[in-house]
Amino acid sequence: MPDGDSRRQGRTLRDARGLAEAGLIPPAAEADAARVAQRFAIAVTDQVARLIDPTDAADPIARQYIPDLAELDTAPHEIPDPTADGPFTPVTGVVHRYPDRALLKPLLACPVYCRFCFRREVVGPDGGLLTEAQLDAALSWFERTPQIREAILTGGDPLILSPRRLGAILARLSAIPHIETLRIHTRVPVADPARVDAALLAALEVDKPVMIAVHANHAREFAPEAASALARLARAGIPLLGQTVLLRGVNDSPQALEDLLRAMIRNRVKPYYLHALDPAPGTARFAVPDEEGLALMRALRGRVPGFAIPHFVREQPEGGGKRPVA
Ligand code: SF4
Repeated sequence: MPDGDSRRQGRTLRDARGLAEAGLIPPAAEADAARVAQRFAIAVTDQVARLIDPTDAADPIARQYIPDLAELDTAPHEIPDPTADGPFTPVTGVVHRYPDRALLKPLLACPVYCRFCFRREVVGPDGGLLTEAQLDAALSWFERTPQIREAILTGGDPLILSPRRLGAILARLSAIPHIETLRIHTRVPVADPARVDAALLAALEVDKPVMIAVHANHAREFAPEAASALARLARAGIPLLGQTVLLRGVNDSPQALEDLLRAMIRNRVKPYYLHALDPAPGTARFAVPDEEGLALMRALRGRVPGFAIPHFVREQPEGGGKRPVA
């Protein structure tokens, strides 16, 4: 368990038994969920559990987090590292794909485990917390790589680090003269909003600008608790960007996308990217063909303000970074 986890107010369901006892899956589905959990981690926070309607077999929140036996079937085109992090890793915990920016992955644990995750082969509750020596080596890489202008903290979810550890990382990155901006990719404001407390806000207060990219896929994720967490971040002067994965059964209609984008802008989140699904193992049930995604983008024109329309992009499997879907 990463440090800082004790700050959560509620409990997280982490196995098939817990999901069944909470009424999120029927008892008859427990064995199948347990089989999936042997390969891909489960975590459903109390915040997310409250958003799920267990009487709706097509609930778009449940679909994102509740395991399904189909995850054990890997389609021929699915690959373990669809964004090719591995070949672009100069030192453990760093991914350098673009000339001017690089990812720092201080841990590979998350508050929730999304069933469509592109890093699902590596994320998990026991996974990937960098040791002090590894973290030092990763930060040293940023210090000695002058072309890097932006450090992007991702994982896993950096906002489940303790504020002390997160603050130390941000402070050291902020002190690097050639680094101009810091960015954090996270699910925390919508999946575990109680973590956005005074200690976390204090940790985010460093000399360089910090931006937060919030991963959310459905309007219902912007519950009152999430709205409050986002308001706290916005009041702290942190620009908020929205990241969404286009997912079958979650947001694959003009109305669902419009509702999501409107929920974002009501909560001071500027829609940034709509990602085509990365072909991670066992995620085929979420795939939306590009033609359909492009039609959805066309449908959004005129339905929401222009500034609320995200870029529709796909990661290149060979590690070439994001490209517009066309
Ligand atoms: S929070 Fe992000 S990294 Fe973690 S499981 Fe979900 S998509 Fe993957």
